[in-house]
Amino acid sequence: MLSGSDRLNMTRLALNLAGHVNGVARRHREVSQGMFPEYAISSVTNGVHSVTWTSEPFRILYDRHVPGWREEPTLLRQAMRIPAEELWRAHGEAKRSLLMEVKRLTGRTLSEDALTIGFARRATAYKRADLIFSDLARLRAIRRMGPLQLVYAGKAHPRDEGGKELIRRVMRFARELDEEIPVVYLPDYGVELAKLLVAGVDLWLNTPRRPMEASGTSGMKAAHNGVPSLSILDGWWIEGHVEGVTGWSIGRAEAGTETDADDAADLYAKLPIVLETFQHAPERWAAMMRSVIALNASFFNTYRMVLEYATNAYLL
Ligand SMILES: *Cc1c(COP(=O)(O)O)cnc(C)c1O
Repeated sequence: MLSGSDRLNMTRLALNLAGHVNGVARRHREVSQGMFPEYAISSVTNGVHSVTWTSEPFRILYDRHVPGWREEPTLLRQAMRIPAEELWRAHGEAKRSLLMEVKRLTGRTLSEDALTIGFARRATAYKRADLIFSDLARLRAIRRMGPLQLVYAGKAHPRDEGGKELIRRVMRFARELDEEIPVVYLPDYGVELAKLLVAGVDLWLNTPRRPMEASGTSGMKAAHNGVPSLSILDGWWIEGHVEGVTGWSIGRAEAGTETDADDAADLYAKLPIVLETFQHAPERWAAMMRSVIALNASFFNTYRMVLEYATNAYLL
């Protein structure tokens, strides 16, 4: 049967009827190939639309330093020439826009100086939105090294009870941490809010359980605004991650037997490094913003992605 032998299997149906099959990141190809060894599966790694996901302050910056980037985002590799103080100024503007929206939506005033961590995606169990709260004593100890705050967003599917419970858990931790580590959960996550978030935070956090993240795209959006990621090595991040250059990893890329506790421990080991760099090495942080744009925004965009689909899939 085209759609499986016992019941309708949409994946089998698609695999049997498609003229070409590809994963949306290299790891996604490997995992899918292991699940369906009888089909030839290639990969085209996802990208995001550069002009859409670049905030106004960074558009202006790129217009000045990387002419032609709107038509040809691969040119963003030239971001290496943007001076640190201009990156910081553009980021500061994007951060203030986000904090104003946070104030409007929640009534809370977040600090412009605190390391601001963003976490926004569909609220579902494998994404582990609460991983950073696994050990509050540990998190509080890290907070004493420097101010820290978190901005969350993301809706659960109406029938995803686990996802809804995850949001309630994050809200409970937010109340418990109160003013010590401000945590806000923004309602109605949508594209407009996502644009403010991926540009306005200092660090993009992603903690899915491996190997569940096929690609992930929000870290690519953050990269277009010079925002480094702290993420589990899964999906696109395996390809985009250079430790201390485009962000930081949690865990290892190789298939392993890590538990949630292992990943949380690694997250807590990395956070002080991030905080230290952000608080005390602004030049180093600016160099990372530059590398994130030059290495990741220049590649993880739809311009490159569509070219790959054309040459490796449609025109083959
Ligand atoms: C980008 C985006 C997503 C997907 O983010 P992932 O990192 O791929 O999970 C979901 N919702 C909105 C509103 C987005 O902008």
